[in-house]
Amino acid sequence: MSARITLHCNTVWRESACAHQLLTDARTVEEARAAARARGWRTAEDDDFCPGCSGLGPQPADAVVAVLYPGGRP
Ligand SMILES: [Zn+2]
Repeated sequence: MSARITLHCNTVWRESACAHQLLTDARTVEEARAAARARGWRTAEDDDFCPGCSGLGPQPADAVVAVLYPGGRP
């Protein structure tokens, strides 16, 4: 896959920001966020929060990549 849109967790802890991000091959931010929500992310107007910061706890490693078009370009 070739990642097109990457969502970054916007949670900022006392001393550092959360480093989680979600790589997607979505074509629009809305599409990327929809994929993120399907994986437990919370999304808002300008902020995205990873599942771990949304109270769901640690997530499996494969949760950081969302492949929407596994077959590549149509
Ligand atoms: Zn986070």
